[in-house]
Amino acid sequence: TDRLLDVRNLKKHFPVRSGLLQRVTAHVKAVDGVSFHLDKGETLGLVGESGCGKSTTGRAVLRLLPVTSGEVLFREKNLLALGGEELRRARRNFQMVFQDPFASLDPRMTVSAIVGEPLAAHGLASSRAERDDRVVQILEEVGLDSSVLNRYAFEFSGGQRQRIGIARALVLHPSLVVADEPVSALDVSIQAQVINLLAELREKLSLTYLFIAHDLSVVKHISDRVAVMYLGRIVETARTDVLFSSPLHPYTQALLSAAPVPEPGKKSERIILKGDVPSPLNPPQGCPFHPRCFRVMDRCSREVPDLVERKEGHFAACHLYD
Ligand code: SF4
Ligand code: MG
Repeated sequence: TDRLLDVRNLKKHFPVRSGLLQRVTAHVKAVDGVSFHLDKGETLGLVGESGCGKSTTGRAVLRLLPVTSGEVLFREKNLLALGGEELRRARRNFQMVFQDPFASLDPRMTVSAIVGEPLAAHGLASSRAERDDRVVQILEEVGLDSSVLNRYAFEFSGGQRQRIGIARALVLHPSLVVADEPVSALDVSIQAQVINLLAELREKLSLTYLFIAHDLSVVKHISDRVAVMYLGRIVETARTDVLFSSPLHPYTQALLSAAPVPEPGKKSERIILKGDVPSPLNPPQGCPFHPRCFRVMDRCSREVPDLVERKEGHFAACHLYD
């Protein structure tokens, strides 16, 4: 197969310190045994409420933060075992698109500097002119042109800023892009434009996406498959059409009912979940979803359900299907 990425049993636990001596007294299991794969050209939508560990998963995969354990195989090489120069070279192949691409950038940087910075960092442009050539090429791919080169980020609208952020992520021609809520900060009217642009670029530049969102409707049209996360774990994953038409996990069913997509002849009743997402500092025993589940059974508070294949390519972590 054309396997690009294989994430196996990824864990990211953050130490929690307390007391005068700031001793480590507990661990937050932000990502607690996540596995998924991406074939070349595919898009996996990773969905869940804030705090479920989806951004941490995206960052851990790209080695933007240290990982507790697991494997991240990128073209069969474990990224977690790479260091130094090897890691630096590998980094060209994977990039991130952020919700606010300029949050961490100096507002006095011009578009030329912002988009050209990765080229400079990797020593890929020997002169300003060469750098700007490549910057203009990628700006054109995202629907902008050379007239923006010497302007500042704050001069642009949200949608344009995200185009610039995408250009920055793509200027090195990566093969894998992790997009972390790339449209959450944008007006609804602009969201579809940016998603369509990402879809177009995927075909044109042979990209593979991990597309993170808190809203299932955002990933519906761009994803081949969707994985739903809850409290640091994937609770269901399936092909997008299957997940939307016949969700198995009660949590997925609740998420879908909260954003009913009108389908003729299909009546949808809103499922209201009890309570809020529990603190990851103190997760429930057994199935992490059981305090909120509307189909909870006796064993759910005792036994953790594994993510098991229930139908071909359709996995759910729920005792209802054992
Ligand atoms: Fe609900 Fe039990 Fe399934 Fe968890 S295992 S989702 S509590 S039915
Ligand atoms: Mg996030």
